[in-house]
Amino acid sequence: MRKSYKTEINPTQEQIRKINKTIGTCRFIYNFYLAHNKELLDKGEKFMTAKSFSVWLNNEFLPNHPEYLWIKDVSSKSVKKSMENAYTAFSRFFKKQSRFPRFKKKNKSDVKMYFVKNNPKDCFCERHRINIPTLGCVKLKEKGYIPTTKQGYVIKSGTVSCKAGRYYVSVLIEIPDQNKPQLNDFGLGIDLGLKNFAVISNGITKKNINKTERIRKLEKQLKREQRCLSRKYEDLKKRNNKMKGEATRQNIQKQVLKVQKLHHRIENVRADYINKCVNEIVKTKPSYITIEDLNVKGMMKNKHLSKAVASQKFYEFRTKLEAKCKELGIELRIVDRWYPSSKLCHECGCVKRDLKLSDREYICECGYHADRDYNASLNLRDAISYKIA
Ligand SMILES: [Zn+2]
Repeated sequence: MRKSYKTEINPTQEQIRKINKTIGTCRFIYNFYLAHNKELLDKGEKFMTAKSFSVWLNNEFLPNHPEYLWIKDVSSKSVKKSMENAYTAFSRFFKKQSRFPRFKKKNKSDVKMYFVKNNPKDCFCERHRINIPTLGCVKLKEKGYIPTTKQGYVIKSGTVSCKAGRYYVSVLIEIPDQNKPQLNDFGLGIDLGLKNFAVISNGITKKNINKTERIRKLEKQLKREQRCLSRKYEDLKKRNNKMKGEATRQNIQKQVLKVQKLHHRIENVRADYINKCVNEIVKTKPSYITIEDLNVKGMMKNKHLSKAVASQKFYEFRTKLEAKCKELGIELRIVDRWYPSSKLCHECGCVKRDLKLSDREYICECGYHADRDYNASLNLRDAISYKIA
């Protein structure tokens, strides 16, 4: 399986110069190929493939036009790739899949510097840096995001791109087919909710992290800083004095940053928690997991619930769980949201229509009683009608 990873890099000035030069040359070649073929087609002559263009360029054009020899200064792989890209654009046009290829404009088009692994030392990736042919070692901004060579991963090829003054590397990695683990002979039902984040049919309950002291403190802090920020805006409005206005504006910028940082921290704590929950659940290696198809959009419409629902990150949880299940070969079952998982008695199967949201305990006439959410998780586990995610 091949997987791609994209992350920001921190190139040196010298590397930036090289990247920009390569991208510029690639854009020139792309446009040159387009223009040359347009001319050939207009004259009724034979269209040139990327390969024949490359031969023509090196054997006919460049020897007669030494002023263009700078084309040779940059990575030939990257130059070749831009010819191939232009050829692909033409073939799409010939197949009527897209319109006539357009010229790439500076700063406006997505021209990238392409690289490919040629010899064993190329594309070597460590936690903090990556070796890119013709550039050398380039620092990575996010350490450890790209799987490293030492871990046994091989980078096949990649691109370097620039956007808004920032530089990115995108790599294609060959991921060895993992031996899927032996799964256990049981399934799990998970009831997601607002009181607790998740109640699992194996008896484990994951609390709602937003009710913890840690998040509460951060939220309080955030509110305080937000109030402070709006007060500063008010001040600015009142003040017409230009000199003082400038100082206030700088002050506001500082406060905006403070608020953003707090937001970030809270989001990180929540995201971490979701990851932990998912990992703990799949660690038990069940053969299947059943969850309810939560109507998150509908819940968000309820203004009393929307904030609580958003802060629980149910959608992220489901996405992460789905990815993990796929990786490990666990079947993820999604039960229709109309399935009465809470109202069903897990023991006798009767449905309690008048169950209120405030009833935390499920008590049935048959004598069965259990925690409401735990009962729901058992029903989800045993649901027989579901779709597979
Ligand atoms: Zn019952």
